[in-house]
Amino acid sequence: GGADLECDMLVLGAGPGGYSAAFRAADLGMKVVLVERYATLGGVCLNVGCIPSKALLHVAAVMDEVSHFESLGVAFGKPTIDLDKLRAHKSKVVGKLTGGLSAMAKMRKVTVVRGSGSFVDPHHVAVEETSGDGQQKTGKTQTIRFRNAIIAAGSQAVRLPFMPQDPRVVDSTGALELASVPKRMLILGGGIIGLEMGTVYSTLGARLDVVEMLDGLMQGADRDLVRVWQKMNAPRFDNIMLKTRTVGAEATKDGILVRFEGEQAPKEPQLYDLVLQAVGRSPNGNKIGADKAGVTVTDRGFIPVDIQMRTNVPHIFAIGDIIGQPMLAHKAVHEAHVAAEVAAGEKSAFNARVIPSVAYTDPEVAWVGITEDQAKAQGIAVKKGLFPWTASGRAIANTRDEGYTKLLFDAETHRIVGGGIVGTHAGDMIGEVALAIEMGADEVDIGKTIHPHPTLGESIGMAAEIAHGTCTDVP
Ligand code: FAD
Repeated sequence: GGADLECDMLVLGAGPGGYSAAFRAADLGMKVVLVERYATLGGVCLNVGCIPSKALLHVAAVMDEVSHFESLGVAFGKPTIDLDKLRAHKSKVVGKLTGGLSAMAKMRKVTVVRGSGSFVDPHHVAVEETSGDGQQKTGKTQTIRFRNAIIAAGSQAVRLPFMPQDPRVVDSTGALELASVPKRMLILGGGIIGLEMGTVYSTLGARLDVVEMLDGLMQGADRDLVRVWQKMNAPRFDNIMLKTRTVGAEATKDGILVRFEGEQAPKEPQLYDLVLQAVGRSPNGNKIGADKAGVTVTDRGFIPVDIQMRTNVPHIFAIGDIIGQPMLAHKAVHEAHVAAEVAAGEKSAFNARVIPSVAYTDPEVAWVGITEDQAKAQGIAVKKGLFPWTASGRAIANTRDEGYTKLLFDAETHRIVGGGIVGTHAGDMIGEVALAIEMGADEVDIGKTIHPHPTLGESIGMAAEIAHGTCTDVP
């Protein structure tokens, strides 16, 4: 059939995966069309994820930091909060980045088509033009013919079916709108996204409850590290309910009344001014007409791919949240480069050993590779180096010596297999541990690498020396 537009590479979705794939494909000489239903590029991460959450978390961290300064001889008084200005600040941060992406797309001559795309066959996508927040359709449709395609349509927040439709029940996107600061807030799901948003609201004045089905918060992170985070953050919470779940809720005049069941469930239903649903994200695989192109999608909506990011249809690739866990922006970007390079005929493949995770809470918790519990479960004998920040000059000078740096080494090969950090700036430091794992570094490599003094990053060298038995800096 006829097409309104033709291209070498069609990219569906302009999140971190999609825009990175489009830019790399254009740099490799392809004629690229990038289809996005939102008004701006950047996807979940830039518009309603990584970036706006960090803009708010930075403000919260500074507020918390200076709230302890009176004992250091500097008093600021009680902060006053102007939510309109704070929201405007967040929007400005997002605008700078999404605007930058548009400029980069223009520079590379990537054609951006605004609308919701759906496959019609293995070589055509129909795009229904959208307006506003991406939900409204203008009625205009165009057909694009492509030689190769990369699916980067991402994921969306899971909504529990029994939660009432009410402005006081939000997902992360609603929470980032920061309409008001509630007195009592319930976080459904004790993962990174829920705890980050909880941190912001609690610093702005909300009291928090959190409910989690599993036996601990921040699943996936090393328990030694989470314990430190939890001790520091205990004052934010009235109630941390583990091995517990919500079984019903109703909207009342006074708030959202929520019922719980499980080991730590309160007997009476609890009333909240705001309920944040942060129970996970589901992939958009079943919403893009994948079957018309012959692309396999799992029941849950994930699209299976090989290490070259190819779906079962060799000229159609998929990347990012839509292909599976971990749903993280840096994973999507890495996969995007692989897909674009393979489509251009390069011998590229996804073979990263590890993908780091970070909770940008206060303190931050960052980890990469295997944890001590996972090593035990997998029968891997490990040697550990645990460096307490009470022995770090910089952490003490910062009045933030609650942190720990923990490294795990294979007991036989001495090579590093995992690491985690709890403390301020942990996320900025975990990249070094990831590099060490990728390079196959051992205790001596890391311990003998000269780290600048006095820095928090020194703790990585010290932890390696502790594992090796040569650290002279801890009592
Ligand atoms: P997305 O970013 O989801 O982008 C998909 C795009 O495709 C969207 O723009 C969507 O509108 C578009 N789209 C979908 N279907 C169609 C269609 N049919 N037609 C046209 N367009 C379509 N990750 C981190 O690494 N670090 C963080 O700090 C972090 N913080 C987060 C905080 C929050 C609150 C949330 C919700 C997520 C966070 N994430 C974070 C996760 C991160 O946002 C995702 O992993 C990342 O955005 C995935 O990128 P993607 O390209 O796969 O998809």
